[in-house]
Amino acid sequence: MNAPETVVDTDAIAAARPAARRSRQARVAWGSNVVTIGGDAPVRVQSMTNTDTVDVIETAIQVKELALAGSELVRITVNTPEAAQAVPHIREQLDRMGIAVPLIGDFHYNGHRLLSEFPDCAAALSKYRINPGNVGKGDKRDRQFAMMIEAAMRHDKPVRIGVNWGSLDQELLAALMDENAARAEPWDAKQVMYQALIASALQSASYAQELGMDANQILISCKVSGVQDLVSVYRALAARCDYPLHLGLTEAGMGTKGTVASTAALAMLLQEGIGDTIRVSLTPQPGEARTQEVVVALEILQSLGLRAFNPSVTACPGCGRTTSTTFQELAKQIDDFLRAQMPVWKARYPGVETMKLAVMGCIVNGPGESKHADIGISLPGTGEAPAAPVFIDGEKAMTLRGEGIAREFQTIVENYIERRYGSATASH
Ligand code: SF4
Repeated sequence: MNAPETVVDTDAIAAARPAARRSRQARVAWGSNVVTIGGDAPVRVQSMTNTDTVDVIETAIQVKELALAGSELVRITVNTPEAAQAVPHIREQLDRMGIAVPLIGDFHYNGHRLLSEFPDCAAALSKYRINPGNVGKGDKRDRQFAMMIEAAMRHDKPVRIGVNWGSLDQELLAALMDENAARAEPWDAKQVMYQALIASALQSASYAQELGMDANQILISCKVSGVQDLVSVYRALAARCDYPLHLGLTEAGMGTKGTVASTAALAMLLQEGIGDTIRVSLTPQPGEARTQEVVVALEILQSLGLRAFNPSVTACPGCGRTTSTTFQELAKQIDDFLRAQMPVWKARYPGVETMKLAVMGCIVNGPGESKHADIGISLPGTGEAPAAPVFIDGEKAMTLRGEGIAREFQTIVENYIERRYGSATASH
């Protein structure tokens, strides 16, 4: 029996990102730099510093590095009066360096006091993150939460109500557990915990609105550290509200584990149209730059075809057909070169971020893959003639030979960029 013919959906992203989850749109701004979040805005990239906020210079330098790496919003810890005092100075330092990235203040336990007692800090921040599990207990809870919302309204700043299962409101959880125990068929404990996470975020958001906050100034997050847990929680959250959602797998871990777990979780949700800002919460490996979390976030969005940040380099993994590592070295060299140039090229060559390159190891897939790229090079595999055909816009343009292949290919790439994306043809 023949299987029924199926058609490959060539527009899977559009199909999988239903307009149904069209959230409200918030604006997070510093000066003329207005970052829209939600609605029809692209999914935004966020990151967080790990410096001591009291150290103004070190924090400003790291914010600058994160911003230059592509982070559109940067969060900093504001945990003490000294940190709150440092915030306006960090902002001034960034302004002096020409870095207009909006700063988000991360508050726990004492945010109500810090935002009230340090108005310059409240003004220098562009958004406040409030964790409803850490605003206070008993009758202090609502009062202290209200003080933070009132500060946000006074300074006209949006807030993110950021729930985290590591600091979930225990009183709310206990109340929901009691309710659950009274059910004829109680849910399992995990279900109740999911409900508590979502209820904490949504109840806090409605309380903020009761206090007078504009719904367009509220963003929500409910972070957990398990991939499937995160997907379940965000699907439920997305179905129950139209606030923009900040997405992230909390405490994702280090290196490969953290990268893969974050990618798996975020990709599933983004493909369903869920998530308006993302953060990849990587624990840096010893010696690893903090900017790695931004690199991974950009790659997730670019791999899914949701945004383009850097020209992409397709490289084959290599196999027994090539004993040479030349193609790996060339691919890395080209990738590093493109990334290093991008801060300048972004302004000079509009559209260059969508360019595709291919660096391939032998004749098997080399010419084919190279033809699919804007520029591709197919290096010789073991036993092949020592020649590397270069393909430009799908056509074989030349063949490189000898020791200078890497340098010559880089020049070809530069000339192509100038010709295709340069000012004379900026409308290309
Ligand atoms: S292109 Fe050639 S070298 Fe690269 S993985 Fe395929 S067969 Fe192996």
